[in-house]
Amino acid sequence: MKKRLVVLGAGESGVGAAILAADKGMDVFVSDMGTIAPVYRKVLEDEHIEFEEGRHSLDRILSADEVVKSPGIPPTAEVIKLLVSKNVPVISEIEFAGRYTDAKMVCITGSNGKTTTTLLTYHILSKAGLNVGLAGNVGRSLALQVAREKHDVYVIELSSFQLENMYDFKANVAVILNITPDHLDRYDYKMQGYVNAKFRILQNLTTSDAFIYWQDDPVIKAQLEHVATEAAMLPFAEKKEENTAAYVDAEDRLIIDCPSGKWGMPRADLSLNGLHNLYNSMAAGLSASLLNVGKDDIRKALSDFKGVEHRLEPVAVVDGVRYINDSKATNVNSCWYALETMQPGTVLILGGKDKGNDYSEILPLVREKVKAIVAMGLHNEKILEYFGKECPGLPIADTHSLAEAMQACRGYAEDGDTVLLSPCCASFDLFNSYEDRGEKFKAAVLSL
Ligand code: ADP
Repeated sequence: MKKRLVVLGAGESGVGAAILAADKGMDVFVSDMGTIAPVYRKVLEDEHIEFEEGRHSLDRILSADEVVKSPGIPPTAEVIKLLVSKNVPVISEIEFAGRYTDAKMVCITGSNGKTTTTLLTYHILSKAGLNVGLAGNVGRSLALQVAREKHDVYVIELSSFQLENMYDFKANVAVILNITPDHLDRYDYKMQGYVNAKFRILQNLTTSDAFIYWQDDPVIKAQLEHVATEAAMLPFAEKKEENTAAYVDAEDRLIIDCPSGKWGMPRADLSLNGLHNLYNSMAAGLSASLLNVGKDDIRKALSDFKGVEHRLEPVAVVDGVRYINDSKATNVNSCWYALETMQPGTVLILGGKDKGNDYSEILPLVREKVKAIVAMGLHNEKILEYFGKECPGLPIADTHSLAEAMQACRGYAEDGDTVLLSPCCASFDLFNSYEDRGEKFKAAVLSL
């Protein structure tokens, strides 16, 4: 009998998984509780894959042999709880796709910097001429590429949500950039649950694989005392310690020192600025080195990468004021890294949907570099109260729309200053997504 595979959620990953399953001759059924986007509905129709939307037909779903779940569906959803109680295996699309390819897998996770590092690694590998696919949270689904494109290498951005339902999948190069509190709402506000999910990236690594991580991350350090891996450990850090595989030397050169060789380049030649991007460049450079990409190709690609939209993206200079779109900074830690690259005279736009933020992390940088805060959200009370108390005298505007926020920024910023949108919060109170927030911000700047 054909294997009965149910796919829950008809987005990029679900539709890709359904196509791969159909190609492999399975009996596939796709079910989405919401409305399926027209592009994906058309693909399902064109591929003659059976689907439903606006409901979950439980009789059909619960009789599946296996279920591929979209990372957006939380483990607490009723349908998932029912599946678990009936012992139906629930896996992620990456786990599913991994069964049907022998390609090398470079897997990148972390609380911040995943997309940048994934795109940068992909940029290096593709410029060096490798047959490489970009998958996971960025790019197209791994399953679709495994089914139809068959690359030799994949660079995959993995969120903790995807990692939750991965079991036998094996990375060849696993990267954990950093771990700071994020998405804690999904983990019962218990940090350890989130850390455990991230560390699932190490599952199944063997002696021929590599684990790249930030050496100075206290959370990673603590977890490594409990978790063992057979893989080669390749930590990166600003300053070299005994086993550091990527660091900055006394001549301000980025040094990569890993089993495939040792080489360096001036830090100033990196195209991405800021300490966080130094780390991202180290992780990408190490990954590429391990895949035997030549040092000249890596150096060149690290210096001509164009950057990623909504991540410290320069927008324009208007009346001598620089405007920077860092809308993707949806947590406090990424705002810290953005502020780290700023000068005094920064007007900081903060606010949106708070995910349990602790602003004390950015307080020293706010005191040093921020001349005014513009709170932009439906509920600004926490920001007003915290910074009002901790930074007496710092002007703070209470705004509830982008237009009001822009007006406030115009009032505070003078020639030579910078307006930074790095909001520490999700965007869903006033915008559809961080992309929507960043695009509207850019449009507002360009119409000043
Ligand atoms: P992710 O995909 O993990 O959300 P992005 O690459 O989209 O990460 O970057 C999101 C934001 O996080 C950036 O705007 C930047 O401010 C910050 N950031 C990027 N890389 C790092 C890093 N290595 N450490 C800390 N913060 C970072």
